[in-house]
Amino acid sequence: MKKVKGYKCIICDSEFSLDDIEYVCKNCKGNLQVTYDYHFIKENLKKSDFAENKDYSIWRYTNLLPVENISRKPIVQIGCTPLYKAERLGNKLGIKNLYIKDEGRNPSASLKDRPGAIAVANALERGEKIITCASTGNAASSLSCLTAALGLKTIIFIPETSPVAKIAQLLVFGAIVIAVKGTYDDAFDLCIKATEKYGWYNRSSGYNPYTREGKKTCAFEICEQLSWECPDKVFISVGDGNLISGVWKGFVDLFEIGFIDRLPQLVSCQSENMDAINRAFKSDGVIRPVKGETIADSISVSFPHDGDAALKAINGSRGFAISVSDEQIVRAIPELARETSVFGEPSGVVPFAALKKAIGEGKIKEDEKIVVLVSGNGLKDINSAMKSVGQPLKIKPDLIELDKIVSRDFV
Ligand SMILES: *Cc1c(COP(=O)(O)O)cnc(C)c1O
Ligand SMILES: [Zn+2]
Repeated sequence: MKKVKGYKCIICDSEFSLDDIEYVCKNCKGNLQVTYDYHFIKENLKKSDFAENKDYSIWRYTNLLPVENISRKPIVQIGCTPLYKAERLGNKLGIKNLYIKDEGRNPSASLKDRPGAIAVANALERGEKIITCASTGNAASSLSCLTAALGLKTIIFIPETSPVAKIAQLLVFGAIVIAVKGTYDDAFDLCIKATEKYGWYNRSSGYNPYTREGKKTCAFEICEQLSWECPDKVFISVGDGNLISGVWKGFVDLFEIGFIDRLPQLVSCQSENMDAINRAFKSDGVIRPVKGETIADSISVSFPHDGDAALKAINGSRGFAISVSDEQIVRAIPELARETSVFGEPSGVVPFAALKKAIGEGKIKEDEKIVVLVSGNGLKDINSAMKSVGQPLKIKPDLIELDKIVSRDFV
């Protein structure tokens, strides 16, 4: 592959060729980053190519992805999710240019379809037959969705506490589901051991270098949707830290090939109960495991598996970190929905809750271009959504009863 140079270790900077390595650095076990020949890409790719490109999915960016001629790929449409200008919410918050990227519009209803697609493409290129993944829920439900129509066997490790809608997705798509009596971190460790023992292909985030490459397509889309303008700040939900490092990689790729002339600040948004990355960012830069629980299950991570890459993204972008409470997260679900028509799962609205906090702390200027990434759909976790909205009004099918309510509540 001419466009791809190889891998570089996030920790020790060792470089490897593509066939040299399976997942992590041979020298220090650090996570790997795919490196590109930006000069070659620049020569072969122009902005005008995109204006003519009718492929409205992540594959429109194949020139910037570590895949060659994809003969088989998932048949569902991944990416090209809408970027909405949220005028009403912006007015309320005092921000002139507020945008919402609705990642819940992906096939399995979260942004995990982006990394899943690239990992699956890689598994197919390698001729793998069995693919496995540890997940809080969304990475797995996505993988099961994408592999279903490809006939790949999929073995999933999740914590038994995953929201039921995500477990339903796994079972409906036909994955073999192993619900681990423990945390996501426990499921992750078991999945790695299984990979080493049985030789399955492992798609887990913060281990497989291709997931970051999928997540970066989110940044490509944001810039293209803003007519190749770079936003000022992007608010991102952070668990393992693979998403924020992926989004950063996407902006850097576009900068290196000259498609954008500056870089945005990335804001790392976590639950204050599980914020290992934000704590490290605010102190000595060393990631330490945290103990706690959060309603934001998709970012409920004790020891982040891509923490160092995430810190590089926050620091490299001159960004900052905001942690929010579970109460703020739960309240953010209906507030975002009522102002923008976008219904996010708890982890999906964490960036919005963090934006409000950042405004309160005076960190946002009124004319900045702000993007809030809503990473997963609200239907993924109904129980959490119901915590903040009360119950419907129940009556007999009778106009007189209805009239009592209307005259009491609506006029
Ligand atoms: C996975 C996920 C995230 C965070 O991604 P990390 O790479 O774990 O930091 C955020 N929101 C949702 C909905 C997710 O599924
Ligand atoms: Zn290394």
